[in-house]
Parts: sequence; structure tokens; C-alpha cells
Amino acid sequence: TRLRLKELKGKPSVTKDGISVLLFGNIASPKDTQKVLNFGGTGVGLFRTEFLFMGRSDSPSEEEQFQAYSEALKSMAPHPVIIRTLDAGGDKDVPYIKGLVGEEANPFLGLRAIRICMEYREIFMTQLRALARASAFGNLKIMLPMVTSLWEIRTARAMLAEAVLSVKDAGHKVAENIDLGIMIEVPAAAASAHVLAKEVDFFSVGTNDLVQYTLAVDRQNPRLLQWYEPFHPAVIALLENTARAAHEANIELGMCGEMAGDPLALPLLVALGFHELSMSAPRIPWIQDYLMRLTKDRCLELFQKVRSMDSGSSIREELTRFMEEHQ
Ligand code: PEP
Ligand code: MG
Repeated sequence: TRLRLKELKGKPSVTKDGISVLLFGNIASPKDTQKVLNFGGTGVGLFRTEFLFMGRSDSPSEEEQFQAYSEALKSMAPHPVIIRTLDAGGDKDVPYIKGLVGEEANPFLGLRAIRICMEYREIFMTQLRALARASAFGNLKIMLPMVTSLWEIRTARAMLAEAVLSVKDAGHKVAENIDLGIMIEVPAAAASAHVLAKEVDFFSVGTNDLVQYTLAVDRQNPRLLQWYEPFHPAVIALLENTARAAHEANIELGMCGEMAGDPLALPLLVALGFHELSMSAPRIPWIQDYLMRLTKDRCLELFQKVRSMDSGSSIREELTRFMEEHQ
């Protein structure tokens, strides 16, 4: 198999009948881009920027952030890099942000991610300025985490415009266009995807949190594994609603949660018309190998069957059978 996976590198990631699905890698630092390229990834679908904010007692400066973002963009160019703005809180412990926010009874339902950026605007503005400057060095797309409502997108867009103007004033180059998208990782966003789709350039589904919040199951609690079911009919319904909204608004549809790298899920994601899947780099060749055996018709047929099934376990069995038929 190893040889076969090597052979895949450089081959287009398409289904047997020619439907393209871009396969991207998730990264946590600019150094990780090499690994994405080595495994044949043609972009970064999620750059988790939290690492820059960890192990320190204050925010990283604009300059420090600019260095990290532009390094990632340069090493991936001309491929796109989706950089996610700060997603602190919940499972992502950034001690000095925690110090600002204080104790909360329910941190996963608390002041986290985009909410911190709305409350502490100077932290967000510094990051946006660094991103605006970095945009001159590659193909940058900016992604907001944990969005639930339109006003967050509008505020972020206005602040990005302000950041762009002010760094230009200071004499820096900025890309002509910077796409702004959101993660779909809260059930509210998936259910109101038609509202949000009108004001963003792309969606990327974060299944790790989407599954957690939809099923009310802590993603980190090992005792809840049998309840943490990405193929639960409720999750499938939210994915379908999100996909429909993205297609109706004609925006890019991606996924960057663990489900994107799970071969069992792949035919469903092809059926739903996902344009891009971003995963841990070593998974890319495995997903590509399976993708090349699929046809859209068979995937659509499978999806029709799956959407009327009544449990995660029966859906899982069906998906396993489908994969065996495509070996
Ligand atoms: C997700 O929630 O699915 C996701 C990709 O983001 P993170 O795992 O960083 O929360
Ligand atoms: Mg998340």
C-alpha cells in the first residue's frame, strides 16, 4: 500500500467520474506546511493559531503574528491557506486569555473563540492587522470560529476592512481580495446556514464541535464515546442543511473537523457536494485513494438511503458495507 500511496501524490483528487474534491491539511504552526505538501495536500484548510498565544503571559505582537502567518502563506503559495482567528477557551486553554475571562461555570458555553474577539477588540484587531499584512505573501483566507449569528460576521468584516486600511496607510502591501469565511460548528449556525451564507465567502464545517454541541456530548470525555456519534441522524441532517445553504448562495463548502479525514464519511460528503476537505496530513493519501474509486451517482444513492435510517450504528454499517464494495 505504501507504494500505491506514493503514486497518488501529484495525481488530481477526483472521483472516478471526474468530480474534484480538494484535499487540504490542518496545521498548528507554519512548520507543518511541509508535511501537508509531502502528503500531497494542495492547501491548508485550517491553521489553528492558538499555539501562538500559548505559553506566554500576553498576546503575541502584530509583528510576531505577521511572521508566522506570512511564513505559512509563502511556503504554501500559490495554494490557499485558511487561517482561523483565535479560538481560545473550551478545550483550547490559553492561560492568559483565561486570566482575562475569569472563571466560568460552563466554559464550553462561555466566552470562547469569536466571542473573545468581540469582547476584547484590541486582541482581535492585532490579529487582523497581522493577517492583512501577511495576505500580500500568498493566498490567504480568513476563517472565524464558533460563529452563531450574523452580527459577529458583520463586526468582523468591518474590523477587517479597518485593519486593511490602516496597514495600507502605514505603507504595507495587502492582497486585493481576502476571502472571509466561517466555521459551521455550532448547531445554530448549521440550522441558520441560509442566513449566514449570504454574508460570507465560504463555510468550513467543524465536526468536532458540531457533534459535541448537537448531541450535548463532551468531545473529550472518554466515558461518552458511545454517545459521540458523528453519523447520528441529527448531525447528518445539519450537514445536509449546511450544504444546501452553501450551494444556494454559491459559496465554497469545506470541512475541517475529524470527519473530513474519515473514509467512512467520504461518500456522504461527495454526495453533499463538499468542495474541500481538510484533515491531518497523513490521512490525505488514504482519502484520495478512496475518492478515486467513487462515483457521484453511487454516493447520491447511498446518501438517499442513509438519510432515512434511524441510528448512527445502522448508518455506520451501511457506510462500512459501501466501502467494502469499493475496495
Ligand atoms: C472542529 O471543531 O471540528 C474543528 C475543526 O476545530 P477544533 O477541533 O480546533 O475545535
Ligand atoms: Mg472547533
